[in-house]
This record gives sequence, structure tokens and C-alpha cells, in this order.
Amino acid sequence: MKTIDLRSDTVTAPGPAMRAAMCDAAVGDDVYGEDPTVNRLQQTLAESLGFEAGLFFSSGTQSNLAALISHCQRGDEYIVGQEAHTYRYEGGGAAVLGSIQPQPLANQPDGSLEPADIEATIKPDDIHFARTRLIALENTIGGKVLPLAYTAEVAALAKRRGLGLHLDGARMFNAAVKLGVTGREVCAGFDSVSVCLSKGLGAPVGSVLCGSRDLIQRATRWRKMLGGGMRQAGVLAAAGLYALEHHVERLADDHANAAALAAGLGEIDGLRVEPVQTNIVYVHVPAQRCAALQAHLKQRGIVAGIGPRTRLVTHLDVSAKEVAEVITACKDFFRNLQ
Ligand SMILES: *Cc1c(COP(=O)(O)O)cnc(C)c1O
Repeated sequence: MKTIDLRSDTVTAPGPAMRAAMCDAAVGDDVYGEDPTVNRLQQTLAESLGFEAGLFFSSGTQSNLAALISHCQRGDEYIVGQEAHTYRYEGGGAAVLGSIQPQPLANQPDGSLEPADIEATIKPDDIHFARTRLIALENTIGGKVLPLAYTAEVAALAKRRGLGLHLDGARMFNAAVKLGVTGREVCAGFDSVSVCLSKGLGAPVGSVLCGSRDLIQRATRWRKMLGGGMRQAGVLAAAGLYALEHHVERLADDHANAAALAAGLGEIDGLRVEPVQTNIVYVHVPAQRCAALQAHLKQRGIVAGIGPRTRLVTHLDVSAKEVAEVITACKDFFRNLQ
């Protein structure tokens, strides 16, 4: 039986056409810069997003870390949201491996960092303080889209204060599709962006960091040091190119499926569903029901990590029909309680 896996959009498996593209990929040694497919992926994405250069990474964590280290020196700090992936979910790599002090700020309910908070936390040039160097935003964050007017405002602030601006754009294309704009517009004003190919875009592996030629040159050295210099990586880059060509527009389907899932679950007494913007649905489940609901869903072939605030993610391998099955399974569970 095929399972319906709602834990993350990382669980997608490459389909036959993507596998065929991987199979046919021309390859070379990418540490020598000689893999034509990797080079094409890097150039294609960088050009389309409005950057000078791109660099293929094995993961978004590695791409973000290399970006932070390339922007900041030892003893510098970067301003970041408490809920940001780079701060919260990457093992503290910026501090541990980069000697960069994170300066976390509370994310607003819409996922943004308040510009006044950013401004107030920038440290003066004084030997007591770490040197503030960089602001890092994330879009989408927890499935929420940062408006273009907001990112433009932060870009102007960064420029005015002489700070770099990095975008963790793991799901940047979800934001672009939701806003009905190009990826280039979402990335406007940023000095660098890290884009995941392995999330909703459905490639098995990889992220691309885009930035200036200079920044990417520094990042290439750090990537090597982090053990991320891959050799015939063209087989992976081919999957990324296929994903960029075929799987961007269809993110709208994932958003529609997430909206349908939220609407269906919202009809159930006992569940509270947060408003949904893209492909991530947050559902509040009574704590005493979590384990039983998870077991019930598992019996129906539905994989989800059920907790008091459950995250359900739609993606390439979840159809509208399967979303309906999930809603039915949840309704059955709560009906049988009564
Ligand atoms: C998944 C994710 C990453 C890291 O990507 P990995 O490839 O899993 O290391 C970074 N930022 C955000 C917002 C993500 O969702």
C-alpha cells in the first residue's frame, strides 16, 4: 500500500522522468569545476534569480552555513529570527563552526522581523560588542510568505546600515507562486539566497546558493572545508534542473491541497487549524488524543507526526484525492470518540 506521508515536503521521491534526466546527465569532476550539468544548474538558477553566480550544495543546512561564514568573519554577528531554520534547526552551526554570534529576535506572527527591532539590535562599533554584519530572513517561514514590500523595507535598512542580507529561501518558490511573481522578485534586494531543490521541488538532494561572484568564490572554499565538494554531482544536478523546469508552477497544486486539507480538518470539533498560505498546515490537537490519532492514521497508511501543534505538509507525492482520504480518516477518528 502506498503511504500518504505528510511529515515534510522532503519525502518526495524522484519520478520516472526525473530519474531519466539523472540517468542521461553529462558529468565531470565538480571539485575541478568540470561538471557541465552542475555548472548549468548553478548558472541557470543564478541568472533566473538575478545573481552573478550559484553554487550547488548537498543540503540547505550546508548552503546556509557556507553563506553565513562567507558573509561574516569570526566575532561578527548575524541578526536572525528565533524561529528561523538557520538559528533553530541547524545545530547552531553558525556559532559552532563559523564563530559567528547569532542575535535572535522574536518573529512576528506573520513570520517577519520587526524593522524597528532589527534597527535597535544593531550594535555600535565598540570593543564590548560583536560586530553586526548580516541580517538573515527566511521566506517562506513556517509556510508564511513575507510580502515584497516588507523584504524591500529590510533590504533598504540593511543597505542604509551597511549590513549584508541573506535569504534562507528553502521554499522561496512557494512564496513566488503564492504571490504570483517570479523568483527574481522574491530575491530582490538580497545579497544571497539559498534555495532547496529537495523540498517541494521534488529533487532527491541538494540546494543552490546564489550571490555575487566574490561571495560564491568564498563559499566554494568553505564548502570544500565543510566536506561538501562533490565529484560527479551532475546526476544530482540533473534532478535539480528537471525540478526547476517542471515542478515550480505546480507548487500551486500543493497550496490548493493544503487549503483543502485545512478546510476539511477545520470542520472537525476538537481540532483548531491555523490559517494556511502555502503548503504547510498547522493543526492544534488535544494532547491526550495525539498518540491515538497518530496510530489511527498509520493504520490507514497516513504518516504524520501528530503533536499538540501538528505540522502537515503537502507536496508532489500527495494528491487531492489523498488529501480527501486524510480528512475522512480524521473525521472517522473524532466521530468514533463520541
Ligand atoms: C529544510 C530547510 C533547510 C535545510 O535544508 P536541508 O537540505 O534539510 O539541510 C533550511 N531552511 C529551511 C527554511 C528549510 O525548510
